[in-house]
Amino acid sequence: MTVENNLNPSLKNRPLPTIIQDTARFWESAREHAVELQKCDECGYWRFYPGPVCHSCGSFAYTWTPISGKGKIWTYTVLYRARGNAYQDDVPIAIGLIELEEGAILMSNIIDCQPEDLKIGLEVIIDYGAINDEVTLPLFRLA
Ligand SMILES: [Zn+2]
Repeated sequence: MTVENNLNPSLKNRPLPTIIQDTARFWESAREHAVELQKCDECGYWRFYPGPVCHSCGSFAYTWTPISGKGKIWTYTVLYRARGNAYQDDVPIAIGLIELEEGAILMSNIIDCQPEDLKIGLEVIIDYGAINDEVTLPLFRLA
C-alpha cells in the first residue's frame, strides 16, 4: 500500500453535467446529501438515469424517492493514465458501476481505498463530493 495510490479524486477539473428538468431533482438531492431517484408509481422500478418514462413498463408516473445509500460494486475499473483529460490530476481513480440496494445501477467513483482493496460484490456506502455550489457528486466508499 502506498499513499500515492489512495483513490481520492480532487474533483476540481470534472466536466459538469447539463442539468435539465428531468435531472434537476437528482442534482438538488445530491447537494442535500440525500440522493433521490425516480421510483415508478406503476411497477416500482427505480430509474437511473432520470427521465420521463419508466425503463421497465413505459409509465410516465413516478415519485422522487430517497435511496438508502447502500450498494455493492457491480463492476469497476481503475484508471491509471489520463494524460490530457479532466482526470489527469486524479489518477489512479476507481470508476465503478454501483448496484444500489434498490436495484438501480449508478456509475460513480469509489474513493478512499487502495486499488487492490476493490473487488466485485463488496459493499459500499454513498458519500458526496461538492464540485461547486450547484453540483455535488454522489461517490461511494467501501462499507
Ligand atoms: Zn414502471
